[in-house]
Amino acid sequence: MVRTICWGAFFFAIYWFGFRSGCGTSGALACPPPEIEEGVGVTLDAREVCRGSGYLCAAMQGSQVVRWGLDKGRLRIRVPPTEYLSGDADRRVRDAVVEGIKAWDRKPFPLIIDSGDFTLRFWDIRVVWTQGMNNHAAGQARVGWKIDGKRLKLETDGMAVVLPPQVMMGINDAVLEHIKAVTIHEMGHSLGLLGHSDSPRDIMYPQILPSTRAELSDRDLQTIEALYALPNGATVQ
Ligand SMILES: [Zn+2]
Repeated sequence: MVRTICWGAFFFAIYWFGFRSGCGTSGALACPPPEIEEGVGVTLDAREVCRGSGYLCAAMQGSQVVRWGLDKGRLRIRVPPTEYLSGDADRRVRDAVVEGIKAWDRKPFPLIIDSGDFTLRFWDIRVVWTQGMNNHAAGQARVGWKIDGKRLKLETDGMAVVLPPQVMMGINDAVLEHIKAVTIHEMGHSLGLLGHSDSPRDIMYPQILPSTRAELSDRDLQTIEALYALPNGATVQ
C-alpha cells in the first residue's frame, strides 16, 4: 500500500515538473479569463477591432478571430534534421530556422523549440523541409481549426520551409538570412496571422524582398498583440 502511494507520488512528480505545461505552470503564461477563450458566437464591431490593430483586418479571413488558446500556456515547436543536408550545413540551416522562430518568443507564447536529431516530445508546430513548391513560394504554413462549443481550436499540419537551390551549392550569410526571414513569416501564419500586410517593411508582407529584414516590425508586433487580445473564435462584422 505504502509502496503504491510512493510510486503514485513519484509519477505525479514527473508529470507535475516534466510534462505539465499549460497556463499557470512555471515559465508559461498566466491562465486567461474563460470569456476570452470562449468567443465562438460573439460578434465584434469591425470598426473597433480594426482601429490601431496594424494589418489585422486585412488578415482576418472569413472575419473570424483565429488564434491559439492562451490557456495552452506555451507552444512547442519541432525543428527536425533537414534531410537534404548533413553536418555543418544542416546545423547552420536549422539554427537559422530556430533564430527565426525565436523572433516570436513571448509574442505572446513562451516557445519551447526542439531541434535535436531525435525526439519523443509532442509538438504544436512542426517544421517540414522541402526543396520547392508548385507555386514557387518560399514557405507555407498549413493552418486549420475546429469549433468545439464556444471554443476555436487551431491546428497546424506542418510549417514548410523551402531550402533554395543555393543551399545545396554552399551556405552563405545571405541564404541563411533569407531562410530566417521565411521562417519568421511562416511562423506568423502559424500563430494565426492568416493574411498579409500591405507594407514591405513588415515581415508579413507577401514577398521576401532584397530589402526585407529578418525581424518583426513594430506593426507586426502591434498586429499579433491585437489578435491575442480578441476573444478566440469571435466573428468580426
Ligand atoms: Zn504568407
